[in-house]
Amino acid sequence: MIQLSERIKSMEESATIAMSRKSRELKAQGKDVISLSLGEPDFFTPDFIKDAAKKALDENYTMYTPVPGYDDLRAAICRKFKRDNGLNYTPDQIVVSTGAKQSIANVVMSLVDEGDEVIIPAPYWVSYYEIVKVAGGVPVVISAGIDQDFKINGKQLSEAITPKTKMMIFSTPCNPTGSVYTKDELRELADVLVKHERIVTISDEIYEHINFSSKHESLAQFEDIYDRVVTINGVSKAWAMTGWRLGYIGAHKDIASACNKVQGQFTSGTCSITQRAAIAAVDADPAVLKDMVKAFESRRELVLNALNEIPGVKANRPQGAFYVFPDISSFFGKSYGSYTINSANDLSLYLLDEGLVALVTGEAFGDPNCIRISYAASEEVLNEAMKRIKEALSKLS
Ligand code: PMP
Ligand code: GLU
Repeated sequence: MIQLSERIKSMEESATIAMSRKSRELKAQGKDVISLSLGEPDFFTPDFIKDAAKKALDENYTMYTPVPGYDDLRAAICRKFKRDNGLNYTPDQIVVSTGAKQSIANVVMSLVDEGDEVIIPAPYWVSYYEIVKVAGGVPVVISAGIDQDFKINGKQLSEAITPKTKMMIFSTPCNPTGSVYTKDELRELADVLVKHERIVTISDEIYEHINFSSKHESLAQFEDIYDRVVTINGVSKAWAMTGWRLGYIGAHKDIASACNKVQGQFTSGTCSITQRAAIAAVDADPAVLKDMVKAFESRRELVLNALNEIPGVKANRPQGAFYVFPDISSFFGKSYGSYTINSANDLSLYLLDEGLVALVTGEAFGDPNCIRISYAASEEVLNEAMKRIKEALSKLS
C-alpha cells in the first residue's frame, strides 16, 4: 500500500480546478454543461505576444533560463511596476515563476515556519489556504461579509494579529468577490501593518487591469511598509495567457533571493519561450486592454441584472476581476425531489446536476453562504447559464 505523506493527505484539491474537471467529464459523457467555474479569460492571447513567442523559437530560445528569469524580462517588469503602479523595484527584487501560483508558494515557503500564523481575509482565493498549510503555517481567517463589500478593515486586522503572526495574504481586485480596495482602505491596513515589523504582506494584484471604476492601487505604494510587501502579478489574466504559465513578484531583495533559492531546487526558471513573449506583454501599453475590460464590464451587468431578478439571491456590485459572489444562503433548508440544500456545496452540486451549470462553492473561498460565478464567457453563454440557474433555483421550496 502506498503511504502518502500526512502533508499531502491533509491538503484539499483546488475546488476551482476540481469543478472544471467535473464539468469537463460531464461534457465528455455528452451532457450539455456550461462551466462558469474556472477563472480564465475566454479571449485568445493577442497576436503581438504570439509573434514574440514564434520569434523566440526561431531564434532558438530553447535552453535553460536563469532561475529568476531573463535579465531583460526582469528589467521590463521593473518598467511595468513603475509605469502602472508607481513602484520602484530593481531587477534583483524580481523573481519570475511558473505562474503567480508558484510565486505565492515560493514566498510562503521562504517566510513561513512551522506554527507561524498567516492572516487570510475571507473570502480568499482557494490556494492561499492550502499553500500556507503545506508550509506548516496556521491560517487565521478574518471574515468580511457582503455587508462590508467583502473587504476587511484596520480594526479587524489589528484584532487578528498575535505575536505569532508572520504574514497576511489578500488580493485586490479580489478573487472570488471582485471587490477592489481603495487607496484609503489600503492605507488603513498599512497603518496597522506598519506597527508590526515581523509581518510580510502578500498583495496579489493579478487582476489589476480588470478594474471597472477606479485606478488600481498597490499596497507597496506606502513607503513605510514597502519593504514588507510582496507584490504579486502575472500575465495570465490581463493578457489571456493562462496556459503559458508566468507570474512574478516584486519584493525586498532578501525575499527575492530566498524565492530564487526555492525555485532553483524545485522547478528552475519558467519556459524560455513564455518569458520572451512576456516581455512583449509587460512592455505593452495596458490601454490596449480597454475593449476586453469593457466586454467584462457589460458581462458583469448581464449577470447582476439576471441575479437581481432571482428572489432570495443577494449580490454585491463587484468593481473588478470577472467574478460575482452572490449570497445564496436563503435557499438553505429548501428541497426539490431528492435534493435538499443545506450548504453552498449542496447548492453548487444541485445547480450542476439539475441546471447543468458549473459554479464553485463559496466554502472553498472561506464563505459558506456564497457561490462564485466566473463571467469570463460570452454573453450568449452567460444568458443561457443565468436562465438555467434561475429555473433550477425556482424549483426549490
Ligand atoms: N492569484 C489569484 C487571485 C488568482 O485568481 C489566480 C488564478 N489563476 C492566481 C493567483 C494564479 O495565477 P497564475 O495563472 O499566474 O498561476
Ligand atoms: N485562478 C483561477 C480561478 O480561481 C484559475 C484556477 C486556479 O488556478 O485555481 O478559477
